[in-house]
Amino acid sequence: NLDIRVNIRSDDEVGSLGRAINDLAVETNRYRSNRREFFANISHELRTPISYLKGYTQVLKEGLYRSDNERIQYLTILEGESERMVRLIDDLFDLSKMEEGKIDLQMKAINLTEVLETALLKVSMEVENKELALNKDIEGNIPFIKADSVRLEQIFTNLLGNAVRYTERGSITVRAWSEEKRMWVSIEDTGIGIPKEDLPLIFERFHRVEKSRSRELGGTGLGLAIVKNLIELQNGSITVSSELGKGTRFELRFPVASKEET
Ligand code: ADP
Repeated sequence: NLDIRVNIRSDDEVGSLGRAINDLAVETNRYRSNRREFFANISHELRTPISYLKGYTQVLKEGLYRSDNERIQYLTILEGESERMVRLIDDLFDLSKMEEGKIDLQMKAINLTEVLETALLKVSMEVENKELALNKDIEGNIPFIKADSVRLEQIFTNLLGNAVRYTERGSITVRAWSEEKRMWVSIEDTGIGIPKEDLPLIFERFHRVEKSRSRELGGTGLGLAIVKNLIELQNGSITVSSELGKGTRFELRFPVASKEET
């Protein structure tokens, strides 16, 4: 076992020092392999759109298309792939700032439901296009929370965007209520669901249930990692429950702002 650096022969201080060194070695190895995997993922994620860009540019350059329609199809693919690359780079930049604790949050006492309504408005077109029903159960007159409204909106649009993306028919239900000095939000869909074995990994960078499907739908695989980071930076928490083929439910909690904070 590569992780074992020190043989532990005693139960005294020397023994526990040995154990501490071994633990550290395990931790270091885990960190190294995570990092390796992370960079391998990034290069893979960039390679895919770039290979499309190369391929289709060549096709267009050499006039290897049969109709104007086909030409426009190729151009649309090129456009989509470039947009996804930009999103990937933006997401990576966001994540790295968060993980270094270098992200500037403008924490203020705000009304969560207003932010939620803005996010709902942003996805309403996609919801309509897919002919999904949108159910809202949002408590009126709710307490303020201390959060960054721009980043809070990013959390909601991300989760709502996923709900639309991974739902073919049925509905999306959004609830917001206050309970036990916390604000709760749930976003529920009747979509494809997430297999049990993927649930614990869903917030990890680049973890996707179906890579090709997510990619086709324009995903970067970083959305939920960003969402979780942003929620925790704002002292909140998120959990997920899901049933394959039935749907998925995300539940978010944020502490209510104290009197002094409002
Ligand atoms: P992506 O850009 O691929 O959507 P995310 O980090 O946002 O990346 O989500 C990670 C993975 O979690 C997705 O690829 C998808 O497999 C799964 N997922 C996220 N939200 C949902 C949902 N509402 N329903 C089903 N699967 C989901």
